Amino acid sequence: MQASSKPILVIGGGVAGMTAAVEAAEVGFHVLLVEQEPSLGGRVTRAHRYFPKMCPPTCGFEINVRRIRQNPRIQVHTLATVEEISGTAGAFKARIRIRPRYVTGSHSLDDAALAQLTSERDDDFNEGMSKTKAVYLPHDMAYPPLHVVDREALSDGDAEALSTLCPPGSVDLDMAEEEIEVEVGAVIVATGWRPYDATRLENLGFGRCENVITNVMMERLAAPGGPTGGKIVRPSDGQAALNVAFVQCAGSRDENHLPYCSAVCCMASLKQARYLREENPDAQATLFYIDIRTIGREESFYYDLLEDDHVSFVKGKVAQVDEVADGKDLSVDVEDTLNGETLHGTFDLVVLATGIVPNTADVKIPYELTYDEYGFVDGSTNVEGIYAAGCAKRPCDVSRTTKDSTAAALKAIQCLQGGE
Ligand SMILES: Cc1cc2nc3c(=O)[nH]c(=O)nc-3n(C[C@H](O)[C@H](O)[C@H](O)COP(=O)(O)OP(=O)(O)OC[C@H]3O[C@@H](n4cnc5c(N)ncnc54)[C@H](O)[C@@H]3O)c2cc1C
Repeated sequence: MQASSKPILVIGGGVAGMTAAVEAAEVGFHVLLVEQEPSLGGRVTRAHRYFPKMCPPTCGFEINVRRIRQNPRIQVHTLATVEEISGTAGAFKARIRIRPRYVTGSHSLDDAALAQLTSERDDDFNEGMSKTKAVYLPHDMAYPPLHVVDREALSDGDAEALSTLCPPGSVDLDMAEEEIEVEVGAVIVATGWRPYDATRLENLGFGRCENVITNVMMERLAAPGGPTGGKIVRPSDGQAALNVAFVQCAGSRDENHLPYCSAVCCMASLKQARYLREENPDAQATLFYIDIRTIGREESFYYDLLEDDHVSFVKGKVAQVDEVADGKDLSVDVEDTLNGETLHGTFDLVVLATGIVPNTADVKIPYELTYDEYGFVDGSTNVEGIYAAGCAKRPCDVSRTTKDSTAAALKAIQCLQGGE
């Protein structure tokens, strides 16, 4: 019965979408997994390690990739977006646009040869802190493990050079965009999140002060595959960061920016303070917070750091970050609400714990769905046959995301079986 039912369309191939796909496929349902980027994994693959166990992102990711590769019922489309959905539960039609990769997959490409190319692009995987060649592998763990050509970045000269640098038939610059139409029984929206635009936090100095970075940049600085090979350094001079301020709720819980709590930023900064302390036993971390929000077993993560005399906590919302008059160090102004004192500290790196914005705030799913006022898919008023999971629904960590995805897969299966 399962094998003949219509597939489930999963939009977004981050941890939410991958989990929903394998859960549904492993009980016999067909799944179309549609990801707009050249590879699967979403935001978690960009983390150095993930709380609460501090494992590298390879852990869960590689298991999910293996489950996807081994399961013929899952069809993956990368560089793909869903342009239109029509119909109703059990009988949706979707139009999927697939952008060209320009790499055929017939042979693997050699990065040493591609190093001769001169055209480069900002590496979005490293949050723009490094460059890749215009023909690049998205990252070390990329699945599918295929290079991709950034056609806009590739110069005419480099386009010609590819015929000598790559095996015959491996690159096809004439590859065209494709559109396919599919019939699906249910849809899972797993489109995830992007970081809040820190340049809008004018008082906190991002974009104005070289040594103010965001929490997502910090993940890449700490990662061995990141722009500094895993060294947490100041962007201005490449010196080790020894005295770091973590500014919590940078935009979140703020009526002028994101009025809601982004749920993961406290744990993310506690984790990043650990990265710093593990890398350099002399380094000092100071967390400026409104409330520290950790729950369940995550609380011990916080309590452990309280024991570290190189980590301090100041309860207060940071008012201003500026470069000090004679250099690239940063002054941080804040009122310590526990004793009413105004503090004026100096740091060599400031990390803004910017919050989570749903991707659906910018690009809506092409079907009439209800969103809350911030753009998250509103689960309480969902359309029958369309279910959201992970950060498309609300800010959440990986553990909550995967539970959500399993639930969404179950709802989709019930819909296919007419059990709603
Ligand atoms: C600084 C920071 C550190 C964090 N660290 C941790 C941690 O240590 N542990 C932890 O548990 N959680 C952590 N999190 C939270 C974690 O990142 C999220 O729980 C997780 O990313 C949610 O997965 P997701 O699949 O819902 O979204 P995403 O990871 O955003 O994946 C969504 C995917 O959908 C794709 N997509 C979007 N729109 C479309 C579209 N229209 N069509 C096709 N594809 C689309 C995207 O390209 C992406 O691949 C952290 C968050 C932050 C901000």
